[in-house]
Amino acid sequence: MPSRRGEDLEYKVFRMIKNRGDKGILQSQLWKRIKATSREGSRISLRLERAGLIERRRELHEGKWTYRLVAKKRAVNPLSILDLPCAFCPNQDKCGLGGPVSPASCPLLAQWVEKTAYEASKGKVKAEVDEELEA
Ligand code: SF4
Repeated sequence: MPSRRGEDLEYKVFRMIKNRGDKGILQSQLWKRIKATSREGSRISLRLERAGLIERRRELHEGKWTYRLVAKKRAVNPLSILDLPCAFCPNQDKCGLGGPVSPASCPLLAQWVEKTAYEASKGKVKAEVDEELEA
């Protein structure tokens, strides 16, 4: 099981992959950016794949087989609505689609959606592991 620091790094990696959209990123490029060895990086990408957060697509790059990491689109756990940043937002009255403050461009909301999806997936994986251990 990864440490808190390991989980933070996983989350950071997940965000970097997600920020690349549908084109994703080659894993070797990503490991260079976070200054990880290919062994450390492969562990992280496998954990994210097992959590259902990313896909690892095999790809031939400069004559070598590698993986392109692409984030999956996921639904949000409705229970986490309680943490929604809008609940205590001082800009709530001004916020609306097409306005100067908009949910479509709000970094707090985007961060909440990503973090919630990430935590929901981690919880799902933990529940599956617990079930396997109890069986
Ligand atoms: S979307 Fe962002 S700006 Fe709008 S109410 Fe929610 S937290 Fe506030």
